[in-house]
Amino acid sequence: MVSIVAIVGRPNVGKSTLFNRLTRSRNALVDDRPGVTRDRICASITCEGVNMTLVDTGGFEDLGQDPLLKEVRGQVERGITEADKVIFVVDARAGLMPGDEAMADLLRKRHKKVLLAVNKVDGPEHEYRIHDFHTLGLGAPLGVSASHGYGFNDLKDELIQNLPRGREPEVPNQIRVAVIGRPNAGKSSLINRILRDERLVVSELPGTTRDAVDALFHYRGREYLLIDTAGIRRKARVKEKIEKISMIKALRSLDRCHVAVILLDAERGLSDQDVRICGYALDKGRGLVVAVNKWDLVKTDSRKKEQLYHAVDRRMKFVSYAPKVNVSALTGERVMALFKAIDTVFDQFCTRISTGEVNRALKEIVEKHPPQRIGRGRLKFLYATQARTRPPTFVLVVNRPDLVHFAYKRFLANQFREHFGLKNIPIQLKFKER
Ligand code: GDP
Ligand code: GDP
Repeated sequence: MVSIVAIVGRPNVGKSTLFNRLTRSRNALVDDRPGVTRDRICASITCEGVNMTLVDTGGFEDLGQDPLLKEVRGQVERGITEADKVIFVVDARAGLMPGDEAMADLLRKRHKKVLLAVNKVDGPEHEYRIHDFHTLGLGAPLGVSASHGYGFNDLKDELIQNLPRGREPEVPNQIRVAVIGRPNAGKSSLINRILRDERLVVSELPGTTRDAVDALFHYRGREYLLIDTAGIRRKARVKEKIEKISMIKALRSLDRCHVAVILLDAERGLSDQDVRICGYALDKGRGLVVAVNKWDLVKTDSRKKEQLYHAVDRRMKFVSYAPKVNVSALTGERVMALFKAIDTVFDQFCTRISTGEVNRALKEIVEKHPPQRIGRGRLKFLYATQARTRPPTFVLVVNRPDLVHFAYKRFLANQFREHFGLKNIPIQLKFKER
């Protein structure tokens, strides 16, 4: 189970500083994918065995093209609605502000679990500043310093209170699929098209969160669980657009799935959000299938097709391994063919390579292309093994993990994928000292 934790508060109270401190260990990883992670607003962290996705609602401001503040406000409100817990950040230096009271009202109305963090308490000598904030009626305020780390142990202790631990149990051989995409890409049309298919017997199961409904069915001898179809199906019935950009919902589905189908809108082209979602899928180690929907509208328009291919090649290069399928949810064309791509990705996802095979491949690769010497040290590989599947994760034991250059790591990952027939999925490499 992954809980969603939203960080809210007025501008400049220190939300992104707090976000960065809580996610720092992850962000320290070298990342060479421009645009995807730099302006990160969501990140997965694990705190004392509790898995969560942190969302910095301040970052919503640059999410859409829509400059209207109303939209930003809407984003924050949706963030609050969908989160399992909220870290409400206020500013000890500024003191209690009317904006804080407005936010507190909103939070009280939504009955959310709230952690009231009074930021910029840079040491015990500032603790007295937290008292003003008792009047917000959200429980005991906690003095913290996002920039210095003061109070963070208490913050983490309080953060994990009342949040579930552990993972969602897996059903053997069941493929969990999430359909993700921006509004109007055709998600509900696609899901309805799949679930209406006469060959399928679909049963609805309660999902892991309130109001969520998963759809279970068998197709060509395999079992699939389509994750969180409730909002989508309901919406299609009443024909109204309740769901706007919902990054959080997408993240929740991503957390639960094995394979994410990212649905692009061929008519409107690739959006920033599409690229971002692919980045998150990669970060989380999920399988990915790129489905280009509304193909009926562009298939005879070679200029538009060209543009689209070009954009996908250029901006989604970092997930170029993902299979691509052109579909039309409207006509049904190639919709069920999607499942072939999903199966391919899932099977690779579950692949297990014997330790002997891993070491033979490693030896061959390293002999052909030894790592460059960095400074005075030389990187040496001792042995390697596959530690887990879904996604395949390899542990490489080396003399000094600090000598692994990210370019060499990427090279090794690509070589492994080539060697083991894992061309359509991300794999993870971990370097450990003996
Ligand atoms: P956001 O708009 O809420 O995301 O706020 P930022 O994280 O961008 O921080 C706003 C300003 O407050 C920046 O200049 C930070 O350096 C400063 N700041 C953030 N946290 C602290 C803190 O714990 N102590 C102090 N003294 N300054 C802080
Ligand atoms: P959602 O917001 O992602 O769930 O998108 P919807 O399924 O509600 O679809 C948005 C609009 O696109 C609707 O008017 C659909 O009829 C239309 N649409 C969906 N799929 C296709 C398709 O494959 N071709 C065409 N031409 N229109 C489509």
